[in-house]
Amino acid sequence: MSSGTESDYAKYWIDWFLETKGNEYFCEVDEDYILDRFNLTGLSQEVQQYYAEALDMITDNLEEDSLSDKAREQIEKAARHLYGLIHARFVITTRGLAKMLDKYKKADFGRCPRVLCNLQPLLPVGLSDVPLTKTVKLYCPRCEDIYNPKSSRHASIDGAYFGTSFPHMLFQVHPAYMPTKSIERYEPRIFGFKIHDIAEQHRWQDRAREEFQCKLKEDEDKSKLSTTRQQQPRLVATTPSSQKVERGN
Ligand SMILES: [Zn+2]
Repeated sequence: MSSGTESDYAKYWIDWFLETKGNEYFCEVDEDYILDRFNLTGLSQEVQQYYAEALDMITDNLEEDSLSDKAREQIEKAARHLYGLIHARFVITTRGLAKMLDKYKKADFGRCPRVLCNLQPLLPVGLSDVPLTKTVKLYCPRCEDIYNPKSSRHASIDGAYFGTSFPHMLFQVHPAYMPTKSIERYEPRIFGFKIHDIAEQHRWQDRAREEFQCKLKEDEDKSKLSTTRQQQPRLVATTPSSQKVERGN
């Protein structure tokens, strides 16, 4: 995460935040959304230290001149966290969904790495709505799978800043943007032959081998038992264990 020391303080805080490298997944939360305290209900518990200052920083109302560097740094950390938490709420509002849809259309979140998804744009998704538990993942609506972000900057973003419902909510509200599902599957082949035929044969061979080994083991145990009973060590040498099949691995 970049610290404020490299930022241009004359700018609006949100603009600076959005332009910071690594924050490309975030959209701009409307100022009136942030200023409506009702929307922030409960967030002061999530940002216990410097909540009021962080909120002032986000809305460019913080008097920064009197602050020590250390305090400023901590407030900024709190501000980034608070912005993320507000963002999670904002992106599932009509306005937020529209802003994120624009980013999706531009493939701002990257494209599915799966070849058969044909460069399908992705959407960020959280695996938990509880902050500081899971980092953000990328959801592909075509193969309905999730992927790790390519860049480490993106991979370290808290998934709770987007939430578990966001991408699914987006397609509920904007169904026209839901891509057709990918039913195409990659078929492994060896020299042109579908590999599952070969794989099936291998499985059958493995099963047969296992059954044979089980039988050998049973016979061995039986003969051992009879040996101890009858005290005839001669039998041990003739048990089928000497014919044990060597396994390839
Ligand atoms: Zn995909």
